[in-house]
Amino acid sequence: MNQHIHCIVNDCHYWDQGNKCAANEILVSTDEFGNSKPDRIDAAMAKQLTPMTAGNCMATCCKTYIAKGSDKINADNVTRMS
Ligand code: SF4
Repeated sequence: MNQHIHCIVNDCHYWDQGNKCAANEILVSTDEFGNSKPDRIDAAMAKQLTPMTAGNCMATCCKTYIAKGSDKINADNVTRMS
């Protein structure tokens, strides 16, 4: 694993023991963006996305989160590394 994203959201498909994120890449966005865009718009498309302001921590989210056991785990083109 060559990134070090720590995460305590353990119902996410990408969460791993030791509170590590095992996604090969993630997209952090505003809550508004996360709520309004489909799952396929995620980290793999990051270079094409327009940056935006959030104002505070509570207005940001991990767009890459996907619930464990979801049938949409491949929708974001993100790879689980372990
Ligand atoms: S994808 Fe996001 S929510 Fe899921 S483990 Fe990684 S950082 Fe946490």
